[in-house]
Order: sequence, then C-alpha cells, then structure tokens
Amino acid sequence: MALVSDHHMSTPPTWYHATAPAAPSRPPLSGPLRARACVVGGGLCGVSAALHLAERGIDTVLLEAEAIGHGASGRNGGQIVQGFSAPMERIEAAVGRADAQVFWDMGREAIAAIPERVARHGIDCDLRWGYLIAALNRRQLDDLRETVAQWAGYGYTGPSIVEGAGLRTVLGTDLYAGGMLEPGSGQLHPLAYLRGLAAAAEAAGARLHEQSAAVAIDHGDTVRVSTAGGSVEADILILAGNAYLGRLVPSLNRRLMPVASFVGVTEPLGEERARRLFPQDVAVADCNVALDYYRLTADRRLLFGAGASYSATTPAGLKDWLARRFRRVFPELTDVTVEHAWGGLIGITHSRIPDFGRLAPNVLYAQGFSGQGVALTGLAGTLLAEAATGDDSRFRLVERIRHLPFPGGLLRTPTLVAAMGVLKLKDRLGW
Ligand SMILES: Cc1cc2nc3c(=O)[nH]c(=O)nc-3n(C[C@H](O)[C@H](O)[C@H](O)COP(=O)(O)OP(=O)(O)OC[C@H]3O[C@@H](n4cnc5c(N)ncnc54)[C@H](O)[C@@H]3O)c2cc1C
Repeated sequence: MALVSDHHMSTPPTWYHATAPAAPSRPPLSGPLRARACVVGGGLCGVSAALHLAERGIDTVLLEAEAIGHGASGRNGGQIVQGFSAPMERIEAAVGRADAQVFWDMGREAIAAIPERVARHGIDCDLRWGYLIAALNRRQLDDLRETVAQWAGYGYTGPSIVEGAGLRTVLGTDLYAGGMLEPGSGQLHPLAYLRGLAAAAEAAGARLHEQSAAVAIDHGDTVRVSTAGGSVEADILILAGNAYLGRLVPSLNRRLMPVASFVGVTEPLGEERARRLFPQDVAVADCNVALDYYRLTADRRLLFGAGASYSATTPAGLKDWLARRFRRVFPELTDVTVEHAWGGLIGITHSRIPDFGRLAPNVLYAQGFSGQGVALTGLAGTLLAEAATGDDSRFRLVERIRHLPFPGGLLRTPTLVAAMGVLKLKDRLGW
C-alpha cells in the first residue's frame, strides 16, 4: 500500500530543533525483526506508549518515518492545557455524567504525569506553570465564568477570573475583556521533553528506528509491519501517526481533519520587556476557534502560534503574517523580528474528543487530540499500554465515543477552508 506523505508541512529546522538537547540518530529498520509490540509513530503518543510498554517488560519496537519529533510533537506551542479540547458537556452527552468525571480525572492525571516523568527521567525541558485563557469580548468572558463553575463541579477549583487592573498584573496588553487564570496548566519545550522520553523508553529496553516509514500493514493472529528496508512481526500493533499517518490507514484518516497551525519565535525581547509583557510568565491562549497561543521561551523570546486556513507559506510571508498577529496583542513590538517560523498539522476529530480504538483485537490506535495533545498523549500512552497488557477498562471508556467521518475525496480540502472561514467570521462577529 502506498504511503501518501504530508511533507509539504515540514519546514524544519524549528526553533525547538535548534535548542533541544541533542538526540542520537537511530538506525533505520533493516531486515526482519520479531517483537511483542510494534508502535508506528515517534511523537509524544507513540513514544509514551513505547515507554510504558517497555516499563511493563514488553519487548517493543517503534518505527518513525522521519526523526523522533518530526510531527506535531516537535513543532507545537508547548502549552500544557487542562481538560479536553471539547467542552465537558459534550463528553457528558457522550458518556453520561459519572463517566465524564472519570474523563476529567484522566485529564488531571495526564497533567500530573508530566512533572512526575520530568523528575523521574531527569528531563530538562523548561517546565513552568501558570496559564491564561484570554477572552476577546464579554460573551467569551461569560463562557469562562461558566467554565470556572463547571470545573469546580468536577472538583477542580484552581482557576479564577481576572479583569481590568487584575488582568494587567498578568499580561501587558489591553486587547482582552478578561481571562481565566489557571495555575494548573503551563508550558514546556516539547521537543526536549519528547527526546527525554525517547531516551527513557530506550533505557527501559524499547528499540527505536528512524527513517523507517511503515508502508504496509498485515494483521491476523500476529501483525506484520513493512518498511522499505525491513519488517516487524509482533503480537500487537499500536498506530500513533496521528495527522501525519496520511492515507496508510484510510479508515483512521477519514475520522481526522488535518488543520494547519503556525508558530513563530522572535529574537530575544530582553529581560525588562519580557517581564513587563508577561509579569507572571504565564502561557496564553485566546478563546477564538482560529486561536492565538503564545508564551515566553526560557531565553525570553516570544513564541507565538496561530491557527489558520492559510496555505501560501513561503517562510518570509509566514513570518510577516505571524508578526502582524502578535502586534495586535502587543502593539509595541514593531521593532521585534521573527527569527524562526514553521507550520504543523493538528489532527482534529468531529467532536474534538480524542479518538482511541482498535482496528482488530491486536491493532490499537490513538489520534485526534484536537490541539490539546501535549498532556493527553501521555495519558494515551498509558491507556494503550494498559490495554495491550490486558487491562483495557480505561481504554474502553474512551473507545466508547462515536467518531463521525469527515467528508472525503475532493470535498475535503475545500470543506476545511470553508469551515475555517465560517469559524473565523464567527470569532469576528462574537457569535
Ligand atoms: C503548530 C501546532 C501547535 C500545537 N500546539 C499545541 C499546544 O500548545 N498544546 C497542546 O497540548 N497541543 C498542541 N498541538 C497538538 C499536539 O502537538 C499534538 O496533539 C501531539 O503532538 C500529537 O502527538 P502524536 O504523537 O499523536 O502525533 P505526532 O507528534 O504528529 O507524531 C506522529 C509521528 O508519526 C510519524 N509517522 C506518520 N506516519 C508514519 C508511518 N507510516 N510510519 C512511521 N512513522 C509515521 C510522523 O513522522 C510523526 O513523527 C499543536 C500542534 C501543532 C501542529
């Protein structure tokens, strides 16, 4: 089966690649191998699954088409965000209030796992806490008030509403009507984190192969995954290619909308200006659907991301476009240039709830974190490893969510562009 790649989105090196601790290059798969588990995809989901499997004593081989972190995991905003991309009422509607509580608690577990892993594996990834969800208008601020109350109903009372002078103590801009200050969310250097997890997975015994795209999959009692140079026969297969899996598995591809998002990193702002614009050093996202998300790096650059249906991505055009977006938030940054800019693909499901499931009893997958995968991929890795080793009770809960396919074929891209246009108009008019 031919693998259709999405490499038009790859514009490395990103700032992350320029600043993460070096990683070894792993040899491509060559010849036939036998393992208990095979994982396809070397992002946060696949590497987390490999780590948890190896820690449970399962002999695991991971295949990555390019290099570890080539996909969304090595090019995202680095924001650790509480909860799910879907509002809790949508999860309640899908599984009922009692199981929605289990979902919520798993979201909390996903976040708690990050500092635990960082400490246990000694990963240096600029982990910091504090987050602001910013409202551009009164309607969005009212929605945030409801979110604070709703999360309290799930037993989480961390967030509070900030407005006026209070907001100014958090962020140096007059753009927003207010916001929700969330101490339990935060930020990290995602590629440094991922490389640390990959090293931990290897230390636990997993075998990682780069430049090893899976090009064909056969499954029956055992699974056979073929690459250009070799093959892996395994008892269990985990698919973690997300939006980068392309058309290798059409039934998964149909349930995922790949949406482009873009990130730019400026020159250093200097300590004084950084402190004035981000007095509490929080990461920020606004409430729009085509949202702005941004934060300071450890060396005080502005790292600014924005979603768009924008596709004419010459690097120069992209840098200007990002600069125009961040000058709406911080008008004083007219003299600041964008040094690095890149794009990536976010895998979005219809409901914005992640899509976990199985194509066969021994072929599991997790995808569609819908823009909130930095923390949830870790949970996915844990649940995949649990399910692969005989306890699928938590995996089954997520698997219960029904996921609708997106329209296929030629309709797909125009539909996406039209949908993003409508959503942006909605943002602008404050519906
Ligand atoms: C620009 C951008 C900004 C984002 N910002 C945030 C954020 O701030 N906070 C947040 O929580 N989330 C964010 N996200 C989402 C988050 O990055 C993802 O949810 C998460 O990284 C998904 O991890 P993954 O392992 O499932 O997929 P990926 O990281 O995409 O990994 C999939 C891997 O599979 C490999 N692969 C694909 N096909 C094959 C094959 N056939 N054989 C072998 N390997 C294959 C790919 O090369 C890739 O490395 C952002 C995403 C993007 C693109």
